Amino acid sequence: MPTNTFDVIVIGSGLSGGWAAKEFTEKGLKTLVLERGKEVKHLKDYPTTNMMPWEFPHRNEVPQDIKDANPVISKCYAFREDAMHFFVKDNEHPYVQEKPFDWIRGYQTGGKSLMWARQTQRWSEFDFEGPARDGYAVDWPIRYKDLAPWYSYVEKFAGISGNRDNLPMLPDGEFLPALELSCVENYFSDFVKKNYTDRHIIYGRCAHLTQPQKIHLEQGRAQCQKRNLCQRGCPFGGYFSSNSVTLPWAEKTGNLTMISDAVVHSIIYDDKAGKATGVRVIDAKTHKATEYFARIIFVNAAALNSNLILLNSTSSRFPNGLGNDSGLLGKYVAFHNYRARVSGKHDGHLDKKTDGRSHTSAYIPRFRNVFKQETDFLRGYAAGFSANRGIKRNTDGFGEHDG
Ligand SMILES: Cc1cc2nc3c(=O)[nH]c(=O)nc-3n(C[C@H](O)[C@H](O)[C@H](O)COP(=O)(O)OP(=O)(O)OC[C@H]3O[C@@H](n4cnc5c(N)ncnc54)[C@H](O)[C@@H]3O)c2cc1C
Repeated sequence: MPTNTFDVIVIGSGLSGGWAAKEFTEKGLKTLVLERGKEVKHLKDYPTTNMMPWEFPHRNEVPQDIKDANPVISKCYAFREDAMHFFVKDNEHPYVQEKPFDWIRGYQTGGKSLMWARQTQRWSEFDFEGPARDGYAVDWPIRYKDLAPWYSYVEKFAGISGNRDNLPMLPDGEFLPALELSCVENYFSDFVKKNYTDRHIIYGRCAHLTQPQKIHLEQGRAQCQKRNLCQRGCPFGGYFSSNSVTLPWAEKTGNLTMISDAVVHSIIYDDKAGKATGVRVIDAKTHKATEYFARIIFVNAAALNSNLILLNSTSSRFPNGLGNDSGLLGKYVAFHNYRARVSGKHDGHLDKKTDGRSHTSAYIPRFRNVFKQETDFLRGYAAGFSANRGIKRNTDGFGEHDG
């Protein structure tokens, strides 16, 4: 059916789907983006973005009954009253956990690009060489130098703020100016510099426009206002999201068709041609089934849902799921493993104050096992941290009267 045929189908409009749409439409290909969630238009659909603290019925806390009904997403720091409408609720889309797995999902235009913490550190050659060096897991087919130009390509368009720190374990990129660390973060950084040669404290690179360039203004974005209310969706386009950057850019080309509430069920595989030819879609609201066709199909539905779609895509050539000759689809999926937490109190710097809010944190790049294996565990870890004046809430006057 000609109306259902495109050059490209992109499944999912999140961080990676938005980029795929931008690249294809810019090159003149008619591109259909299918998004299972609701439509969230930049500016128009950020209902909490300009709300004042006192306008939230629970002062930005999640009420206990909602927490009880959603134990998995309630573990996520970003699941707050001002942003909870962007999270898939545990009780609406339950899943079986044979081993604990915190599955945080955003089903909407932009996917999790609205919800992310905007941290954008590059991988280094040490990360790519890890499996080859210690023999654990499968060697990466590429190395840092293969990816470096693509990091640059993406960074220039997205707008990443950071310092050129000249550290081999955390390569520099195409940075906009960094913000200042706080006085206590600087104090800690100096302390570490004095006491260690192999550890560094830097400003965490992040996808914020600290100084918009021509390309960012062309995207219709403005400088980050340091509001630090990013998870609500930013009316300035101050941070990178598919909604504010790649999707509107793709739309401007005239080559984008975007359909929301379109749950891709599976990919159609033509056994005779030996090719994927289209996708089967169920409308989330009406449950009507439709098929769309294209020469190129990009699966950008995030890690688990991409596996799910491929497993659902059975044919006589691929009875266990498209491309699943190895039988590994959907297995050995690891969650981003975080987080150990330490905190401390620093007395001092009482004569200093902070202007504005910081949208990123300080960052301690990997320092374990970089140049050689020196611990009883493989590879390393990095850490984000921040130091700021705590808010001491005075609760005197609340609660039972004791007089
Ligand atoms: C709170 C939080 C903080 C994070 N912070 C960072 C960070 O600081 N730095 C960082 O690098 N990463 C961070 N991440 C991770 C980052 O958000 C994800 O890695 C990234 O969004 C993945 O991009 P994606 O395109 O694969 O998936 P997503 O952005 O999740 O997009 C997938 C899209 O596919 C859609 N979809 C799913 N199934 C179907 C289907 N069957 N049919 C049609 N559409 C479908 C979904 O609705 C969604 O819109 C964070 C994530 C969370 C939750």
